[in-house]
Amino acid sequence: MVQAIGVRKQFGSTEILKGIDLTVERGSVTCLIGPSGSGKTTFLRCINHLEKVSAGRLYVDQELVGYEERNGLLHEKKEKDTARARMSAGMVFQRFNLFPHMTVLENIIEAPTRVAGRPKRDVIPEAQKLLERVGLGDRGMAYPQELSGGQQQRIAIARALAMKPKLMLFDEPTSALDPELVGEVLEVMQALAETGMTMVVVTHELGFARQVGDHVVFMDAGVVVESGSPDDVFNSPQHARTQAFLSKVL
Ligand code: ATP
Repeated sequence: MVQAIGVRKQFGSTEILKGIDLTVERGSVTCLIGPSGSGKTTFLRCINHLEKVSAGRLYVDQELVGYEERNGLLHEKKEKDTARARMSAGMVFQRFNLFPHMTVLENIIEAPTRVAGRPKRDVIPEAQKLLERVGLGDRGMAYPQELSGGQQQRIAIARALAMKPKLMLFDEPTSALDPELVGEVLEVMQALAETGMTMVVVTHELGFARQVGDHVVFMDAGVVVESGSPDDVFNSPQHARTQAFLSKVL
């Protein structure tokens, strides 16, 4: 579903991603872990076409991110093509980013109606089902500020799913939450994983990565240092940098 080949990303003269090679299989959960500033969020933003890679190739569902290939040469993609491609992935951010002036239901139907141009009569029943799926079937008429952080994040997940994405990207979805609200969001994510959704999750929740992740990728200073099954990475890390990181956080 995602294939990164030598992906590099520079901001000005600073290189943040220094050649990432990574494959995310369809239907798998890949957890990106690593120290702050290692480039995890930047890589996730590249997958979602929010950042254009500086070198290397990144494919999402076999489509090249940011560029198109014509006659063997790469050309920058037009913004409208990038926006269309972006619809294939749903993204959930650390801060829930719900529209504060809209009800929960309006938040969920916004993109399917306005961006995808689908009729409300089709979208509203789907939105209601999504609300039930995240355990908030009775909160459609509430405004975001009336909900807890955990509930808002569950709505943000429902909102991303409303676009029927092929892939879900999570950027530290629980790190802005009070500890007692983390579990309910992780439960929704685990249930989503069980439906076979392809997920890439930047997380500090190593318990989640261990339990739900099929694949754990340890990044440091813009490179993938080590990756493998949770058992490989957590129980027998091969690299000194992985060992040092885990000894600090486990
Ligand atoms: P964290 O766990 O703290 O979120 P991270 O591994 O996700 O860290 P990134 O957020 O990808 O790391 O950031 C990597 C580096 O890239 C940081 O030093 C950050 O300051 C820098 N960076 C990110 N976005 C930009 C930008 N738009 N312009 C310049 N530098 C940036």
